[in-house]
Amino acid sequence: MRELREFYIDGQWVKSASAGRHVLIDPSTEEESGAVALGAADDVDAAVSAAASAFTAWASCELGERVAAVKRLRHVYAQRLEDMARAISQEMGAPIELARQRQAPAALRQMDNYLAAIEGFSFERMLGLHAPNDRILMEPIGVVGMITPWNWPMSQIALKVVPALLVGCTMVLKPSEYAPFSSALLAEIIDEANIPAGVFNLVHGDGMTAGTRLVEHPDVAMISFTGSTGAGAEIVRRAADTFKRVGLELGGKGANVIFADADADAVARGVTSCFINSGQNCNAPTRMLVERSVYDEAVEKARQAARSIEVGPSNLAGSQMGPVVSARQYERVQSYIEQGIAEGARLVAGGSGRPAGFNRGFFVQPTVFADVTNDMTIAREEIFGPVLSIMAFDDEDEAVAIANDTPYGLTNYVQSADGARRNRMAKRLQSGMVEMNGQPRAAGSPFGGVGHSGLAREGGVWGLEEFLVVKSISGWDGDARS
Ligand code: NAD
Repeated sequence: MRELREFYIDGQWVKSASAGRHVLIDPSTEEESGAVALGAADDVDAAVSAAASAFTAWASCELGERVAAVKRLRHVYAQRLEDMARAISQEMGAPIELARQRQAPAALRQMDNYLAAIEGFSFERMLGLHAPNDRILMEPIGVVGMITPWNWPMSQIALKVVPALLVGCTMVLKPSEYAPFSSALLAEIIDEANIPAGVFNLVHGDGMTAGTRLVEHPDVAMISFTGSTGAGAEIVRRAADTFKRVGLELGGKGANVIFADADADAVARGVTSCFINSGQNCNAPTRMLVERSVYDEAVEKARQAARSIEVGPSNLAGSQMGPVVSARQYERVQSYIEQGIAEGARLVAGGSGRPAGFNRGFFVQPTVFADVTNDMTIAREEIFGPVLSIMAFDDEDEAVAIANDTPYGLTNYVQSADGARRNRMAKRLQSGMVEMNGQPRAAGSPFGGVGHSGLAREGGVWGLEEFLVVKSISGWDGDARS
């Protein structure tokens, strides 16, 4: 049982000003695995004050210094990779192999991608040849408050911390109260990497107290938020009074459009990518749209693929699907499965209750519904669990209409051998990202959505620009040295 009582503020570990604590429950065993102090407004104020004091020096140091700092961070992080994988697996229930192969190394990939993006990135730009004395300066926005979820904890934190460090922002991170171990370890890593005091600060806490104080704090210039759509809307409202920039990475309800000419693995691949991380992915392809001529075959393939998924505890080596994060999440997913049945969807795999052989742990059966219509609750709302909805379409227009009939717009997917059709679909689908034929988007591509999926773009040069302010200048002397 591990108790986190301290926050990392101004390069020191300091005791929380509050007596509040959040008890962590191991999702596989339902036993207490630790507790974390829940920061109060005073803790957030101390962290913001440290970040504000560190800002001028960090923003004005040579870019090479900041790049070197991130390289040191990468070096130390790589040495602690196994510790990070264990922390993530313990806190949010990812199977240890998933944590080792995907969850923990994701941050290394973000660091590499941002280090590549900063090479050749121009903080001082000409407006154009017509205006030799104009300059565009890209300047760090200031102190950034970062609020993150538990589902891919280090990936999401690295997507914010690394670009902010590189462009010269200082920051206060408030990670999810359900995933505090990984970020406490990150603070240790940052300390060991000798990032100057005050540049990175960590305060644990919940959304209502620590999160709200960060959002409302007058000295915080920007909130970079990843989490649920409801919390995102609340943050925008609360940030309005201090005119903060708000970056939002929110939920999703992705469509995976499978045409009759798709490759033979398209359905199984769609099931796997819907259920990875126990279905707790913002970009999960949770609505599988299948061309009617291959619909029955696809439903059968999906049934088999779901049934072949083994479910098991997080500490076992292997490729099993683990539990969902918490009792609350378990109940939520169960209620969606029951609603799917009640609203008339055809259950073809899984169902309500734990998988056979489990009487404890937040384990959910890999569940597939066929004959779903897009007005059913399971097709409209983000479930955030291993539940797939399959529906049929007759032609391209209908597929586009169903896919776009959602308030979300994060990632959509297309499977077809016809390149011209893929390109047409990519243009017509309303989402920040479209992935086709199982090809992942490349390193350095931007991640982000439209509509209720948010407003931000993380990754690559777009991720750097999130934390920069454009300053437009006339009368610039291009020959002078400053
Ligand atoms: P959540 O919104 O409950 O919590 C996310 C974070 O926000 C936590 O740190 C929480 O303490 C804090 N928070 C909650 N309410 C707040 C408020 N009113 N003010 C300030 N802070 C607040 O989300 P979650 O359950 O941790 O994560 C799952 C959600 O995150 C899903 O909806 C998922 O789709 C989304 N998500 C989106 C992306 C993306 O990049 N688009 C990535 C991962 C997860």
